[in-house]
Amino acid sequence: MVRNRSVTQVFAKLSNLIYPRRCPICDEITGGAEKLICDSCRTVLQPVREPVCMKCGKPLSKEEAEYCPDCLRRKHRYEKGRAVFLYDRVMRASISRFKYHNRREYADFYAEELLRAHGRMLRSWQPDALIPVPLHKSRMRKRGFNQAALVAERMGERLGIPVEEKLLIRVKKTSPQKELNDSARRENLKNAFQLCGNDVKLKRVVLIDDIYTTGSTLDAAAAALLTAGVEKVYFLSICIGRGF
Ligand SMILES: [Zn+2]
Ligand SMILES: [Zn+2]
Repeated sequence: MVRNRSVTQVFAKLSNLIYPRRCPICDEITGGAEKLICDSCRTVLQPVREPVCMKCGKPLSKEEAEYCPDCLRRKHRYEKGRAVFLYDRVMRASISRFKYHNRREYADFYAEELLRAHGRMLRSWQPDALIPVPLHKSRMRKRGFNQAALVAERMGERLGIPVEEKLLIRVKKTSPQKELNDSARRENLKNAFQLCGNDVKLKRVVLIDDIYTTGSTLDAAAAALLTAGVEKVYFLSICIGRGF
């Protein structure tokens, strides 16, 4: 055992020499495989703080409010969910390098922070599986990996919860959501997800995503899962916008 562990450590050190780990915030080399972020960069992060919407977890400005205006207006298909960081300028840049510049190691940091902030809540949901929000196969081919799956895998390993990457598939190639308003987003996502196979034994699942904006993507994914017989769908997201 001791020998195996030292072999693993040597391997981690070697791979860190070849591909040194970079900080998810400043993108400089952190100086160690186990060092996930620079100390100075930690201070610029904006973690989501209470009070938050009881449903979607967006930060609220009014202490007495229970739900954000979004969740008051619309019934979501998912049960509830939480995020770790505000989707500010810093996190926008971080997520963009993660997705488009192949900074796969950032997943370690995001998974660690998700578990630190919401690990206890996640366990209380007693999920049978974690399910990363899938990409359409054409986008997957272009990018080479699903960012949400990398984060889900690391969380699953740490928690001993299975990660289902093949169950939910994105069958519709949706246009970028950024330019669309809320109802157009929902229209865009109609029937975007399907399940592979119809013998779903999972009762409670947690969807893993990178950015929560209006929740329309998670609602569409949750709808497909609920139709297939899943009883409760929760989510965890790396970033989230403000709830006002
Ligand atoms: Zn840094
Ligand atoms: Zn909300």
